[in-house]
Amino acid sequence: MQKRVVALVLSLLVVLGCLLLWRAFIRRPVSSADTPSGRGVPIHLENANLAVAIDRNGGQIVELHNRLTDERHTVVSHEFAVVSRSGTTPSDEMTVTRVAETENHVVFHMEGGGCRAELHYELGTAWVEKWVTFTSDEPLHLERVVMGRREFQPAFNEIHFHTDNTIYDVPVNCFLRTDGGGWYAGIAWPFTEAQGGPDGLTLAYGGWRLLYKKAKDGAIDTKDPYKAELADINVMLPAGAAFVTEKEFLGVYEATGYRREKEVLGTPRTIITAPEVLDWGEVWAMQAYMQHVLPLLPATHEGFWYYFNEWWAGGPKGVITEEQVQAHMSVVDRAKELGAEAFGLAPFWLGMSRYNEQDSPFLHTVGQDGKLKLSPAAQAVVNHIESRGMSCFASSEGSSHYREDRPDWKRVGPGGKPTGQLCWAHPEATQWFFALHSAAMADHAPVRFWIWDGGWLPRRPASWECMATNHGHPPGNIAYQSYTNVLEGLHALRQEHPHVGLGFCWAAKAGGPWVLRDVDITENFHENRGPDDLRFQHWYMLNSSFVPPYKHMSQIWIPSRDYGYGWMSALASGSDIGFIVELPAFNTGEKKQAYLDFTTRWRDWASKNIERLRAKRSLFGQPLREGGIDGSAHIIGDRGFLFVFNPTRNRHIGSIPLNELIGLTSGKRFDTRVLYPETGGLLGTYHYGDKLLVEVKAGACTLIEVLPSEGTALPKVVPTGADIQPAFK
Ligand SMILES: [Zn+2]
Repeated sequence: MQKRVVALVLSLLVVLGCLLLWRAFIRRPVSSADTPSGRGVPIHLENANLAVAIDRNGGQIVELHNRLTDERHTVVSHEFAVVSRSGTTPSDEMTVTRVAETENHVVFHMEGGGCRAELHYELGTAWVEKWVTFTSDEPLHLERVVMGRREFQPAFNEIHFHTDNTIYDVPVNCFLRTDGGGWYAGIAWPFTEAQGGPDGLTLAYGGWRLLYKKAKDGAIDTKDPYKAELADINVMLPAGAAFVTEKEFLGVYEATGYRREKEVLGTPRTIITAPEVLDWGEVWAMQAYMQHVLPLLPATHEGFWYYFNEWWAGGPKGVITEEQVQAHMSVVDRAKELGAEAFGLAPFWLGMSRYNEQDSPFLHTVGQDGKLKLSPAAQAVVNHIESRGMSCFASSEGSSHYREDRPDWKRVGPGGKPTGQLCWAHPEATQWFFALHSAAMADHAPVRFWIWDGGWLPRRPASWECMATNHGHPPGNIAYQSYTNVLEGLHALRQEHPHVGLGFCWAAKAGGPWVLRDVDITENFHENRGPDDLRFQHWYMLNSSFVPPYKHMSQIWIPSRDYGYGWMSALASGSDIGFIVELPAFNTGEKKQAYLDFTTRWRDWASKNIERLRAKRSLFGQPLREGGIDGSAHIIGDRGFLFVFNPTRNRHIGSIPLNELIGLTSGKRFDTRVLYPETGGLLGTYHYGDKLLVEVKAGACTLIEVLPSEGTALPKVVPTGADIQPAFK
């Protein structure tokens, strides 16, 4: 009996031993980690700005080294988890089977639990990006993706959750702060969630933020803006198909000690009123990363383009009828007289539709044959634009009721209630919409720009859901699939027609900066109310959403009283298209000629200096704060320009340091001179590091050129008799 027990125990031990050996074998990484030199040595992605150490055996980040501040953090990381209705697949339960390395890119091939993944890390200038390509042997109904759960040692001083500060409150990134600077981290996707404290951070994304609500009065509770309650991605991943995640980013910055501060007066329409202070070093680091995420697209024109917008200028907005042809042609002629190179018709679809139509025969049938056909009246106006030597800006929107012959493409609301709108999560409907645009661009030669307005992508509860069962998506929340379909469509369209620029007005504002990759221009936060409001919105676009200046829409206000101020405000935006938003009235031919001479001169100036205009740093503080002047520096290397604006009723003096804070990175001695309002006024010669004092009259702008000094030192013109406002505080 005892022998039998011993034999049984021995047998069990043998089986257990085999099992352990087998388990050890299958979990054993087959990779460069197996080589004697590779085992246990972390992989480093590094450059002069940062070093990220990654565990060779598990693929997870184990150390962050900010080389700008020489601060290190040991990290315990769980790199990703794919959450589906069948359960959670975490990276911790997968085994690394192979590692592929190049200098700037590492890929960990992983397997486990019937799933495979490629975990990618890519090194950028001052950041590392991570994404995952994931496949499963079983079909999965995806709910969300966790992109990183990390614990830091030592803990950071604090983690600041930053949103775009608009009424949509779109998450942008977290700042992980230390004494000298820190790290920025996030997911390049609008519907994300960040949880944690100074010693840990978890980032995840889904299909929508359920707590999202548009603030009616601009004053929403942002005590915990990242408490998002993510909606499901709600996508079926077929067995063996690849799902590519959005990108997680981790980048470094050095603090400057200077504060970028919200100083809102009253309740603006677009900006939430919750206070927020960032260090300018945080802002500039995120701006640099965003230039990588939202690159300058291939040029559609040369130099600075002067575009006339008939909608804002009060032109007829209805469908172009025979009776209205002359009225439109007359506006076209007046725009041409102003020197416009491009004309945007107020009606949509090149004059064939009003904005956001629900019951129009044209929209119900347009594109059934894949073509945008124009009526004789609309065609006559388009021909007239072309005959006057102008390009045409066209527009459309996604919320009209298209294709009544395809009820199977329409979004089905909660409770099975049919809606007239197309479902953008339906691949066939989306592909039809983009094919129609592509054909329109190909068939109508004068079209050089296309803008989408209206509520194209989900931004209201009514448009979050589609309950259809025949659209290729599961019934429920369709935000993730809609955004993905539309952004892919835009990408393909921009590539297919490289000479046609793309733009957004209202179409996707709930997507924040993350949806702007393939559009050339975005209409800021809201239609603006004048030059000061334009700069106010651009300040938030640049310093809160971190959208590069070349994607800002620079609207040109041209009141006959002081069109120069309107022009300077537009030029300071850094875009290469100026949008004329009103038709000016000139009392005399002389005044009109003076305006035309002015615009010719400053368009030529902008065309010559567009690269510097795009290199923008804000000065003094938020425009339209109490008693404050504002401005921007546009410097590359040893030269550039300084705009100073004074929207107040009193004269002020601005103090601007001639150093790296304004982007001056080389040169020792500089001459400074006034370019506007009176060209040629010399302000003196300064050394690197000196402070330049600039006076600005009430309601005026001063534009100064800074350039290397070669001759005799010029005497300094030092203004006095008003308060001095520092460019950085
Ligand atoms: Zn649908």
